[in-house]
Amino acid sequence: MILTVNEIFYSIQGESVYAGLPCVFVRLTGCNLRCRYCDTRYAFEAGDAMTVAQIVDQVATFGCDWVEITGGEPLAQNHTPALVDALLGDGYHLLMETNGSLDIDRVDRRCSRIMDIKCPSSGEHTKNDTANLQRLTAHDQVKFVIGDHDDFLFATRLLPRLPAILPTDRILFSAVSDRLTPDRLAAWMLEAQIEARLQLQLHRLIWPDQERGV
Ligand code: SF4
Repeated sequence: MILTVNEIFYSIQGESVYAGLPCVFVRLTGCNLRCRYCDTRYAFEAGDAMTVAQIVDQVATFGCDWVEITGGEPLAQNHTPALVDALLGDGYHLLMETNGSLDIDRVDRRCSRIMDIKCPSSGEHTKNDTANLQRLTAHDQVKFVIGDHDDFLFATRLLPRLPAILPTDRILFSAVSDRLTPDRLAAWMLEAQIEARLQLQLHRLIWPDQERGV
């Protein structure tokens, strides 16, 4: 089984409730969306064909228990579920970032799905697969990337639709860099008494000038 891989690298988890942990990242090529603020456009096309076994072998060279599959959009490739199965079979703590427009249950639920819910300023909010809200488990995470106050209101209106089993500390509010400062988002969250976690992009703070490999 062949996947197209943009890059495999070892870095620090910059987002999610696991921010700060060293982790191996497998960035798969291709995405079915075109968000206005996308910072990984380089992953839309470029990549190398690798078998599942080759990817697993390369991941193993880093000697790290944590692995995240990201993109692009991982679920845009047919063999991503097989890669998930292989990495789970080898005992990794496995995370997968997904844009929320495709069925997240295509991958094993033991993989922690970090699912975006696209807000209006992305230009892609009509593509959210709302059936995914019922597929979330207590092990998953939801992320709202917020670019302005309309996005914030959109996110707050959706919060009651999230399943009760999803703990509030696994609901992430993140500001679009260059569009919204974290202190403004923090002020809105406190004022509205939002039960969610403010997320900073740790890798951008550590390596502000590095576009890739972090
Ligand atoms: S879903 Fe992610 S990778 Fe795809 S266009 Fe949006 S931000 Fe970029």
